[in-house]
Amino acid sequence: MKFCSDCGSPVSLRVPPGDTLPRYVCDNCSTIHYQNPRMVVGCIPEWEDRILLCRRAIEPRHGLWTVPAGYMENGETTFQGALRETLEEANARVEVGPLYALYNIPHINQVYILFRARLLDREVRPGAETLEVRLMTESEIPWDQIAFASVRNTLSHYYEDRRNGEYKFHMGTIENPKKA
Ligand SMILES: [Zn+2]
Repeated sequence: MKFCSDCGSPVSLRVPPGDTLPRYVCDNCSTIHYQNPRMVVGCIPEWEDRILLCRRAIEPRHGLWTVPAGYMENGETTFQGALRETLEEANARVEVGPLYALYNIPHINQVYILFRARLLDREVRPGAETLEVRLMTESEIPWDQIAFASVRNTLSHYYEDRRNGEYKFHMGTIENPKKA
């Protein structure tokens, strides 16, 4: 951040009085511009023994597969966000079900929140940010072409739970692969 979004003056990175972390503070109007993690909301749309995956038409991970998910918007709830992203990315209508997975991804300042969902019909087609949508059985999941570790982990838990006959909530943290 270089300029204040309130008044257009330059900002400096410094620790405001009483705070513990550096923030972008406006040199002119003193507004503190906090930056906090962003939430990615989405779902696993289920249709009989298949789930709906989308192949990404955008970076990052262009051409790889993921579940419908994207940044939550102001003014919506997590499940409204999941519903909207599923409609935008796959033109798919779902009934959002129980919360299924939460992943902290501290090195990119994101939190993934994924629900299970019931696909209401099979009339799905790619949205603007999607190359291809497909209803896949477990044996068709392209495990080496899943876009994100959070989604890969969620799907492997999903099939494990399905085999055990009970879906449990999963929470985890994705560590920075470059740090290890
Ligand atoms: Zn300002």
